[in-house]
Amino acid sequence: MTELRFNELRGEQVDYAIHRQERTFLPDRAHCPLDPTRAGMPATEIPFPAFEIAVFDNRFPAFVAPHGAAEVVVYTDEHDGSLASLAPERAEALMWVWRHRYLELGARPDVEYVFIFENRGVEVGVTLHHPHGQIYAYPFMPPVPALESAADQRAGGCAPCVLLAEELRDGRRVILENDALVAYVPWAARWGYEVHVVMREHRRSLIDCSGEELRLLAVALQQIVRGFDALFERPFPYVMAVHQAPTGERAHGGHLHVEFYPPLRTADKLKFLAGSEQGAGVFISDMLPEDSATALREALARAS
Ligand SMILES: [Zn+2]
Ligand SMILES: [Zn+2]
Ligand SMILES: [Zn+2]
Repeated sequence: MTELRFNELRGEQVDYAIHRQERTFLPDRAHCPLDPTRAGMPATEIPFPAFEIAVFDNRFPAFVAPHGAAEVVVYTDEHDGSLASLAPERAEALMWVWRHRYLELGARPDVEYVFIFENRGVEVGVTLHHPHGQIYAYPFMPPVPALESAADQRAGGCAPCVLLAEELRDGRRVILENDALVAYVPWAARWGYEVHVVMREHRRSLIDCSGEELRLLAVALQQIVRGFDALFERPFPYVMAVHQAPTGERAHGGHLHVEFYPPLRTADKLKFLAGSEQGAGVFISDMLPEDSATALREALARAS
C-alpha cells in the first residue's frame, strides 16, 4: 500500500502512497466527508449525527500499521471556522486528544515519532476546508526532529530551553506570553511570519504538561491564529507543527513546542521555495524577524 525508499543523496526516506491520488479534493460543502452523518443523507467519515472531536484513520494514509499510522483529527462538527473560532473548552479538549494520541501511538513498537500537525489553506495544499488536523506516526525518526536532536547536542543540553532563554533576554521577537509558554518569531526564522510557541518549563511532550499548561497552550494557539487572521484581514494559511520527544526505543531529548510556518509574505504574495531553498537548502527572506514580530504583536492586539 505504501513503500519507503531511502534517498541516498539526501540521506532521507521518501514515502510512496500512490492511492492518495484518489483522495477527496476540495468537495463542495454538501459533500464534506468530515461533517457528521445526517439523517437520510449518505454516510460521511463520521457515522454520528453530532460530535465534539473525532479521530479516525486517514482513508488515504501515507503510513499504515504495522509501519506507522496516519490519523485525521476533526476539531468540530461545524463545517465553517478554524482552530481560532472553536469554543475555548473545545480547543482545550483538543490538547487532551492530542495528548491521548501521542501516548497511544507513541507506545507502539512500530512508531518512532508521533507528529501532530495542521495544514491550513489551499496555499499549503489543503484538500478539505473543514477544521481539522492530522497525525502521522512515523516508523522512523524524521529529518526535522533529528535536526532538533542535533541542536541539543550543539547546545550541550536542551536547545529549545536555551533558545527560549535567549529570546526572553532579547525580547524584541516575543509576541505573546502566558504562565505556561512564550511565543516568538525566532531569531533565524525561515518564513516571514514564522512563530514558535515554547513551553516555559522543560516539558518533553504533552504527557508531561499539567492540565493548566494544556489549557494555556490552547489559549495561546487560538490567540496566535486570530492574530494571524487579523494581520492581513484574511484567513491566514499556515503549516502548524507540534514537536515533541521522539518515542522510539533509543529516544532522548525533546521539548514540546509548536511551530507555525505561514507561506504569506504580504496579503497576496506567497513565499515560494525556489532555487536557493530547494537546491542549496538556504532560505532567503526579505523580512527581518524583529519587524514581523512587531507587526504580529499589533495584529494580536487588534484581534483580542
Ligand atoms: Zn465539513
Ligand atoms: Zn527544554
Ligand atoms: Zn521544532
